[in-house]
Amino acid sequence: MKGASMRLIDADALIINLMDRGIEGLQTDDFYEIQQAVDDAPTVDLVRRGKWQPDSDNCLVCSECGNPAEINGITGELMESPYCSECGAKME
Ligand SMILES: [Zn+2]
Repeated sequence: MKGASMRLIDADALIINLMDRGIEGLQTDDFYEIQQAVDDAPTVDLVRRGKWQPDSDNCLVCSECGNPAEINGITGELMESPYCSECGAKME
């Protein structure tokens, strides 16, 4: 189930939440099964990737969020940093 509708949650927080609620009528074995299911759920690669691309004003913007590349205060040149300072995308 990948795509825009996917919601990332903290699996460890979910387990603690379930334990705190002590779901009524739940047997220890049932809880163990739930914990196993959560532990077995796939993890998601959170490294966002993007690239610096020219916009209509001949500036460079992040392909992921549109953040403009920073400009070197001394040389006035656009800096193609390895990461976007706004969204954190790793630039390729
Ligand atoms: Zn960005």
